[in-house]
Amino acid sequence: MTTEIYLDGNATTAVLPAAIAAAADAMGQRYGNPSSSHGTGLKAKVLLDQTRACAVRLLGVGDGRLMFNSGATEGIQTAVLSALVALRERRERGEAIGSLLVYGATEHKAVPESLAHWNRLLGLNLTLQKLPVDQDGAHDLAQLRALAPQAALVCTMAANNETGIVTNLAAIEVLLAETGSAAYWLVDCVQALGKLDLDLASTRIDYAPFSGHKLYAPKGIGMLYVRAGAPFTPLIMGGGQESGQRSGTENMAGIAALGAVLSALERGDTFRSHHQLASFRARLADSLRAALPGVVFNNPFDKSLPTTLNFSVPGLSSRELMDVFDAAQVRVSSGSACSAAKAAPSYVLDAMHAPLWRSAGAIRMSFGPLADEATIADACRRIERCGAALRASCLIPSERTAVPHDGLLQLGVEGACSWMVLDAASRSCIVIDPLPDMIARIESYVRCQNYQVQAIVSTSPDVDRSMLISALGRHVDCHAATDAYGWPSAVHAIQLGTQTLLSVADGAARHYLLGDAADATLPPQAVRFVFSARPTVEALRPLTCAQTLLCPTRDEHNQFCVGMAAPAAAEAQAALQLDSAALDVFLQAHPNAELIDVREPYEFAATITPGTAGRSARSVPLSRLAEHASSWLHGEQTPLVFFCRSGNRSLKAAQLLRRLGHGQAYSLNGGLALAPLAHAA
Ligand code: PLP
Repeated sequence: MTTEIYLDGNATTAVLPAAIAAAADAMGQRYGNPSSSHGTGLKAKVLLDQTRACAVRLLGVGDGRLMFNSGATEGIQTAVLSALVALRERRERGEAIGSLLVYGATEHKAVPESLAHWNRLLGLNLTLQKLPVDQDGAHDLAQLRALAPQAALVCTMAANNETGIVTNLAAIEVLLAETGSAAYWLVDCVQALGKLDLDLASTRIDYAPFSGHKLYAPKGIGMLYVRAGAPFTPLIMGGGQESGQRSGTENMAGIAALGAVLSALERGDTFRSHHQLASFRARLADSLRAALPGVVFNNPFDKSLPTTLNFSVPGLSSRELMDVFDAAQVRVSSGSACSAAKAAPSYVLDAMHAPLWRSAGAIRMSFGPLADEATIADACRRIERCGAALRASCLIPSERTAVPHDGLLQLGVEGACSWMVLDAASRSCIVIDPLPDMIARIESYVRCQNYQVQAIVSTSPDVDRSMLISALGRHVDCHAATDAYGWPSAVHAIQLGTQTLLSVADGAARHYLLGDAADATLPPQAVRFVFSARPTVEALRPLTCAQTLLCPTRDEHNQFCVGMAAPAAAEAQAALQLDSAALDVFLQAHPNAELIDVREPYEFAATITPGTAGRSARSVPLSRLAEHASSWLHGEQTPLVFFCRSGNRSLKAAQLLRRLGHGQAYSLNGGLALAPLAHAA
C-alpha cells in the first residue's frame, strides 16, 4: 500500500493520536459543560483548568492572561480590537497616541486585514504602515527605529508561515525600549509553537495568538496570551466564559486535544529536537539539489525554523512542481495555502525582493516536529522519483536523450500557444509560432530529445526568431533564406518524415496545412491540421476536409483545437461526467472503453500507483490532445474516459471530443483525488 507523504505542516498538521484520544474522552466521558456546578461539569472544568495551567507553564504566561478561542485569526482580531479600543479611549481622553499601525511586510494576511477592518470600524483613521524586510526576510530595523516613536501598534510574527524565517524579537524589543515607543506589540506566534522556546511574560510582548492545528491539535482551537496590564476588550460577549474574556461554551474536545499536545511538549518525550529536525531538512534539501538541478532555496536555513524549506526551480512553474509532487503523493504547497489554487507570486517572497520567477514558482515543503526518519527517507526517494519524471519529460536538463515523440505538441502560456510538429523517425521537427515565453521550453525539449529543427514559422510576419535560433544552436537548420514568416524561400512544401507542411498566404496572415502525404501535394482529405491565428477560416474550407482540426495560435479558453466541419446539430447527449461509482458500471457495460490520463507526462511518470487494483490507463497529456483527437475521430469510435488529478483537465478533454463529434467521451468527476485508478507501467 502506498501512503501519502504530508509535507505541508505549516498549513496544518494531522492530529496527534493522544490528542484524538483526549478529544474522544472529552466528548464521550467528560462531556460536561465546565460552567455547570454538578459533578459532570466539574470533571470538564478540571480538564479545562489543567490544560490552561499547562499552557501557562509552557509559554511562560506569568501573571498575564491566557484564554482559549477558535484559533489564531480570532486571537489576532481580539488583540487588534483590544489595542485599538484602548488607543481610541486614550485619544478621547486627550492623550497623545501614535498615528501608525505598523506591521511586517511578510505577516499572515490575518494581521493587515484585521488592522484595516478594526481601524475603519472604530473610526480611528490611523495609518497602516508596512514594515519592509530584507532579502533574508528580516525586518528593516532601521526603518522600525524611525517609525517607532509614531507607532501606536507594532505587529510582527515570531516565524513566517511561508519561509519559516524567525524574527529577531529580542532586537525589536531592545529597539522599542531605546526609542521609548509607547506602541502596543502583537507577535503572531502561530508557527513558533513547539518549535521555538517562548517565555512570554519575560518580554514586553502585549499579545500573542496561537493556533492548535499547526501543532497536531484539531482545527478550531487556539489560544491568546495577553500581557498583564495590556489593554483588553472581549471580541465575543455572552455567558461570561473564560472569565468573561471570551464568551461561548468552551470547545472542550479541542481544549482536551490541545492539552494532550501541550503536555507532550512539556514532557519533552514526543517531539524531535531542533537538531534532529534540522538534519531532516538538510536531507530533504540534498535530495532536492540532486533531483532538481539549479534549485534555489528562498529561505536561509540558518535563519528559519528547521521544519521549513521554500524553493524554486529555474524553468519550472509552481503549478508543475505541485503537480509532479502530488502525483508522487508528496503533499506540498505553493506559497501559502490560501493562495495555492492560483499560482500568484508570493507576497512574502516579493517583499524579500526575490525575482519574479522565484516568487511565482515557489514551493513550500514543511513538516512538523513529529516527523520521523522513515517518512523523511521515503520523501527523499519520492523527490528523486519526481526529478526523474521531470527529466524524462524534458522539463529539466538530462544527460540522457529522452524517447522522442511523434506528431503534434501544444505549448501554451496564458492563452497564447506555440505548436511543434515532431517526427521521431527522422528526429526532426518544425516550430510554429514560437512565443518568447516558450523559448526555454522549446529549447530543452529539442535538446533533450535530440531533434533537429527544420523550420521556425509564424502565422504573422516579422516575428523575431533570433533568440530561439541562438538558443537552439546546432539543433536548428537556419542556413536557408526565409521569408518574413520564417518559411524557407524557394520551397513549396516542407517534408517531415511522412508528414507535409504547406503554407497558405491570406493577406498579411499565413495559415499552415499539415497532413500525411509522401510528396508536396496535400489533397483536402489528407489535411489533418490547420494552424492559423484566426478562429475560423472560410478561405481554407476548399483546402481541408471535415476531419481537419484547426489549431489556433490563441487558446484562452482551453479549446485545444476546433473542427473545420460545421458543429453537429445539438442532440441529446449522454452526461459528460462519471463519478467513481458510475465509472465501474460504465466500464462493465463498455469493456472496450479506454481510460485516458490527461495529466502531463511528468505527473504520469511520477505517479505512485494508488492501492486500488483497476484498469490500466494510457497517458495522453492535454498538450498532445489535438494529435490524439484527430485519430480518435477516425474510424470506429471507442468510448473514452478521461481523468486527471481533480477532474478539471479531463472535463476540458471530454468537452473537446464531444464538440468535435465524439459521442462517447467522458470525464471522471473528482479525478484521481476521489477515485484512484491503477496505471499501466
Ligand atoms: N498566522 C500565521 C503565521 C499562520 O500561519 C496562520 C495559519 O495559516 C494564521 C495566522 C491563522 O491561523 P488560524 O488558522 O488558526 O486562524
